[in-house]
Amino acid sequence: MERKYIDCREYPSEMNCTVMLSADSDDELLEAAVQHAIAVHGEKDTPGLRTEIRKMIKSMPVAKAA
Ligand SMILES: [Zn+2]
Repeated sequence: MERKYIDCREYPSEMNCTVMLSADSDDELLEAAVQHAIAVHGEKDTPGLRTEIRKMIKSMPVAKAA
């Protein structure tokens, strides 16, 4: 299983944001990231913003719980 994440540190911004967001699905993560971008980065919720954020999504493997 994989975990999706976006690490704000990899995307330089004026405020040197270090937030990392993660979720199990792209759609959940996209929603959380859009809210973060609006609240913290002063972005507007537009189709263009969502396209950009979707490109930032990465995945990492999650070790199975024992
Ligand atoms: Zn951020």
